[in-house]
Parts: sequence; structure tokens; C-alpha cells
Amino acid sequence: MTSLYSSHSDDQPRIRDEFVPLDFDIKIPKYHIPEDQHDPAKIYRFVADELMLDGRARQNLATFCTTFEDKEVRDLMDLSIRKNMIDKDEYPYTAEVEMRCVQMLAELWHASRSHKTIGTSTTGSSEAAMLAGLAFKWSWRSRREKQGQSTDRPNLVTGPVQVCWHKFARYFDVELREIPMDPTRYTLPPEKLARFCDENTIGVVATLGLTFTGHYDPVQTISAVLDELESQTGWNIPIHVDAASGGFVAPFLNPEVKWDFRLPRVRSINASGHKYGLAPIGVGWVVWRESNDLPEDLIFRVNYLGGNMPTFALNFSRPGGQVVAQYYNLLRFGRKGYSSIMSDLQDIALFIAAKLGQMGIFKLIHRGDEGIPVVTWTLQDGIPLPFNLYDLTHELRTRGWQVPAYSLPKNLQNTVVSRVVVRYGFTMDMAAAFIEDVIRALDYFRRHAPAHPLDEKECHGFNHL
Ligand SMILES: *Cc1c(COP(=O)(O)O)cnc(C)c1O
Repeated sequence: MTSLYSSHSDDQPRIRDEFVPLDFDIKIPKYHIPEDQHDPAKIYRFVADELMLDGRARQNLATFCTTFEDKEVRDLMDLSIRKNMIDKDEYPYTAEVEMRCVQMLAELWHASRSHKTIGTSTTGSSEAAMLAGLAFKWSWRSRREKQGQSTDRPNLVTGPVQVCWHKFARYFDVELREIPMDPTRYTLPPEKLARFCDENTIGVVATLGLTFTGHYDPVQTISAVLDELESQTGWNIPIHVDAASGGFVAPFLNPEVKWDFRLPRVRSINASGHKYGLAPIGVGWVVWRESNDLPEDLIFRVNYLGGNMPTFALNFSRPGGQVVAQYYNLLRFGRKGYSSIMSDLQDIALFIAAKLGQMGIFKLIHRGDEGIPVVTWTLQDGIPLPFNLYDLTHELRTRGWQVPAYSLPKNLQNTVVSRVVVRYGFTMDMAAAFIEDVIRALDYFRRHAPAHPLDEKECHGFNHL
């Protein structure tokens, strides 16, 4: 048996391949569907006991996703468990709530009232990115066809992007031109942009909240460079902003930063509701500036659900609860609540950065004040140390903390960094405890220097994307 997600390789014998519950009266196979029916409470016990062995989500400092929620969110998810997001005619109020969220986000991102903004919820930013990328590809192709030009070789120009854009490019057959990471700024270097663009560029993706470090790409400068390029060449290259994390941070922490629909070249924006949107895992958003930015060809209208609702999505069925929870959060926190949460998270990030800085061996790459509340650091050059950041990850895990260590992308692949994503539910007290555990780890390395420091493969670096 092999599975894409199998945690066992077939040449490794399994230690046990059945469950033996506490009361020992039944055995349940782990890898076969059991023959008999079983008592729900007992089965619940088995399943819950295995899940107990997972890491603690609130100590998972690798993820960007929500790991803390109001009880009311659980109640609303419960109310929604039977509702399919695609059944918009059967559940018109769930559909209405989705549309209200799209309106609220369009307004948060400064879409003009005179534009017919259009958007949808998705399963996350990855699906949102696929949809935005497809809209770019379709629009570019129809522009080129009208001019009688070839449509064989579309390309997408980006800075250091999240893996979803690599997926988009491969799955939908677009050349990805990822500008290598800038060693001083880490973000997309606008002065290099023009060299990567041509008449086949379907769009430029800027990231608000870089996965690798937390920085914001300089969207306003990128836009100005593309304005200049258009005046020289006539190429009107649109921008999509991947604001997976920053879409719910920048409007509250950095309202003066122009990255959104205030820039006419920004045609679409995505964000993960389940990151700093504070919704539970399973919801993203994509909004287009105007309905013209979403080619009509991509919209499907199906009549077999009893209505004739337009949809643009990769999935068909999808849970409604996350969208409802997003709506709840927007109402519950309001602009003031989001602002105060984001500014608390930034204070915590700055506290962690300051404390790490004082240890004298770490070089901070992002402190949490130039982008999202994320702290990223590397080891200072020229200080001989008996351990590396993979060892630190390993040691912190003994205290329950899950902190990723990974190498940066192209151009900086020799720089290994660690990163802490400060999220709602992570308190200043926890940050202080975390710092104490870093100090404890360094002290441990002083007394027990690792004979063979770990490498990337040996270290469970955690999924940092
Ligand atoms: C997390 C992330 C994604 C992928 O988002 P999902 O919601 O996990 O699908 C894409 N881009 C960036 C910048 C991200 O941080």
C-alpha cells in the first residue's frame, strides 16, 4: 500500500497495526475497514487518543493559520455543518453572508464605490491564487487574440512567492519568472522588474507578508515601475496582490501604506480568512477591482441545484461554516478589534525580536514592524557556535514549541533562518516563556554541544509555507 500522504514506508514494519483500547474487549484494525460496527463512544476515544499525540496547535509557531477561536465560532460551525457553500439557492442566507464579507473586504481594501467589485470565498489563498492567475491568463489571451498576436508563451512575474504560485504556473502552464530574492531587502526589487517583463507577461504578483520573512513587497513602487514600463512599451501589465497574511494586517497596522485598490494597477487581491482574518481553517478570499477583471468565460452557471447561480471555483462542494465564522469575526471584532489585536501581536513580535537580539548571536531579518507580526532571524556571521538553527528547532520541540528552520529561496539558499508567526491567542506571557526556553536551549548547547549538528533533512523543520 502506498499513499501520497502515507507516513509509513512499506519496507518499515509497523510496530502495531491495530488499536487495543483501554478496556481490551475489542481490537480495531488501523489499516483495514473493520468488519463490525462499534460503539461511537469507544471509537471516539481511539480517535481522540491518537490526535492527542499531535503537537499543540497554539504552540505551533510555524503556521500562519488560526489556532484560537471564540466558543461562538464553534457554535456557528456546528450550525453550519450540514450546509454546502455551493448550494446557494438552498442556503441563501449563507450565500448572502459570503457576499457581505466580499463587500466588507472590498471596502477594507479601498475598492471604489463606483466600481462593480466582484469576488468570492475559496478554500484558502491557494485556490484564490489559482482563480486570480486564471483571470490574468484569460484576460491576457483575449487581449493578444484581439491584436492578432501569438498566445503560446504566457509568463507571470513575481518576487519570492509562496508555493501556490509555483503550483499555479505548473498546473495552468504559465512560465513563472520569479525574481531571485534580494540579499539586502528580501522583497521584490522593483528596479529589476522591467527586465523580467515582456508582451507575454500576464501579470505581476506582489506579496503582502512574505512567507519567508514577513516583509511587505513595495507594491506602490512596483506599480510606478509598471506605469513607466507601459509608457515606454505600451504593455499594460496588471498587478495581483497576494495578501494572504497582510490583507488583514496592513489595513489596521499600516493604513498609510498604499498596496491595495488605491493603486489603479492592482486588479485583484487575495487573503486567507483563516490567517490574520481569524476564521477557522478553510476559508480564503479573492476580490477583483471590477467585474471586467474577471473574464465572463471563467464563470459557470449551473442549473441542477435548483437555481442558476454563477460560480468561479476549483471545488464544487465546500463547507459553509468557515465563511459564517469569518462573518462572525468581522462583526464581533470590528475595525477597532482587529486594530487592537494586530497591534498587540506586533508588540509581542517586537518583544521577541528585542529579546533574541539581546542574546548576541542572532541577526534579525524581520522584527515584526515592516510587515506582518512575524519574527525571522538567522545566526550572526563570524561567531563560532556549536549548534545551528536546526538544532535549536529540535531543542525547542522538547518544550512543545514548534519553530521552523529553513533555507531562504534562490539567491539566498545558503542562509538558514528561523521564524515565529505571532498569532491571535499567543500572549505576551507565552512569548516570555518562549524566550526563557530559547535561553534554556542555548545553555543546554553550551553544556552539551551537539557532536553532529543536524541538517535540513534530519530536522523536522515543520511546514513553514
Ligand atoms: C499562506 C499563504 C498562501 C497559501 O494560503 P492558504 O490559505 O494556506 O492556501 C499563499 N500566499 C501567501 C503569501 C501565504 O502566506
